[in-house]
Amino acid sequence: MDELSKANGDCMNRDSYQDMLAAVQAFHDKHRFKETGGEEMIYRVALMAEELGEISSCVTKNKSKYLLSEEVADLLILLLGTAIAQELDLNGAFWDKMEKLDKRTARMINGRIRVSEFRGMDQ
Ligand SMILES: [Mg+2]
Repeated sequence: MDELSKANGDCMNRDSYQDMLAAVQAFHDKHRFKETGGEEMIYRVALMAEELGEISSCVTKNKSKYLLSEEVADLLILLLGTAIAQELDLNGAFWDKMEKLDKRTARMINGRIRVSEFRGMDQ
């Protein structure tokens, strides 16, 4: 059994950030991303943009929720892989950012809610 199969095995907690990260790490190891350019940031940014485009296509073409969730998962996997490539504490950054976002105010702008610091904008 290879590392990815182990990472996807029954012993994994599918709700755990650490186990998701371990599964992506196993995927990177399996394909030797670190040694083969798969962890280079310019390439990763292009891949993330590509997945965002696929998400956009799902929305603009009214594709199924299944296809949309698959494309969002592609982007999530790339984000987790970027955390690995850049040695980021994405879990910590997520919770720190949520705390900051929670303190921000919301405004309706052109009929849509926006939560932001609204720097440089008129009151
Ligand atoms: Mg995709």
